[in-house]
Amino acid sequence: MTKDCIYCKESKDVGLFNREHVIPQSMGRYDQNLVLDCVCKQCNDFFSASLDGILGRDSLEALLRFKYGLKSVSKLGELKGKRLVLKVPPDGGPWAGAQIELIGRDGEIIARPMTQIGFLNKTTGVFEFILFEELQKLGFVEREDLNSNNFRMLGSSDEELEKLRSLLEKAGWNPTIHGELPPPVDDAENVKSIEVEINYLIDRRMKRAIAKIAFNYFAYQVGVNGNAELLNDVSVQAVRSFVRDDSDPAFDPVAITDEPILDLDEKTRRHTDSHLVVLDWLFYRNGRKDLRVSVSLFNHLTYHVTFIPNFQPRPLPDLVVGHQFDFSYSPARCLELLIGAPA
Ligand SMILES: [Zn+2]
Repeated sequence: MTKDCIYCKESKDVGLFNREHVIPQSMGRYDQNLVLDCVCKQCNDFFSASLDGILGRDSLEALLRFKYGLKSVSKLGELKGKRLVLKVPPDGGPWAGAQIELIGRDGEIIARPMTQIGFLNKTTGVFEFILFEELQKLGFVEREDLNSNNFRMLGSSDEELEKLRSLLEKAGWNPTIHGELPPPVDDAENVKSIEVEINYLIDRRMKRAIAKIAFNYFAYQVGVNGNAELLNDVSVQAVRSFVRDDSDPAFDPVAITDEPILDLDEKTRRHTDSHLVVLDWLFYRNGRKDLRVSVSLFNHLTYHVTFIPNFQPRPLPDLVVGHQFDFSYSPARCLELLIGAPA
């Protein structure tokens, strides 16, 4: 017996399929979880390697897993990559712009400076920090706009600072050290704390990782609601191919906002500790309707993924549905959201 994979579209033996979780398991395991049986192993493996990994290790959402206790802080070292950069904020005194890393110690999240040198940028007048690994790779700095006579070394221990000193010596430098700057911590009330600025990059790959969650949910719901023919719509196929093959759709399917999905939440304050996924319509004043899936992991950023822009068929199929992946309860549970209660 064979069936078709919703991602690669190939007809394969049923033995070549396994379970695809609508929300990747790195974002929690849930009672009554939503799973698909129409994704082949090959596509599943491809997604694990190419998309789910960045979501779990190199994204704002990856960091939020530690904040909400979905992952033990002892695993903070697993955060890797270039999409997530933590810095001392611009008003952070002499260390403004220095990079910070997070480690877990005794169940707490500890911030510590990475090993780096900040050079005065002659154009901006601001210190620009370059990590030890980067300096080592460059064989040192040859940038005209950086003042190599005015710099600040930062490391979390004497050994780390020694690494920087020997790097300078190897480069033939014999710098004069003028003194020590206070470390970038605020130890008011004996609790040493540091303000951290979180910079994150949502690039095309990250958008594809989120669009895959949306596509999974779309496929699941149209399957359950008897509207599976919508999967063959040309726009839906464009989203599929964006996720699976990184191809360019005719429209940008992923829009990002900090507006909450739920009415009861506010832009700056959320009341629900859950992941939210909703299939609904976006109505325009001129009567146009887009069919879309909105995804908000940790109810933080909202990603609207458009599946059918300017939906035409009449009558409109009854498709509005949402789920809450509630990790604040034990065991975590997947609940259907009540949407569009009658007025
Ligand atoms: Zn496949």
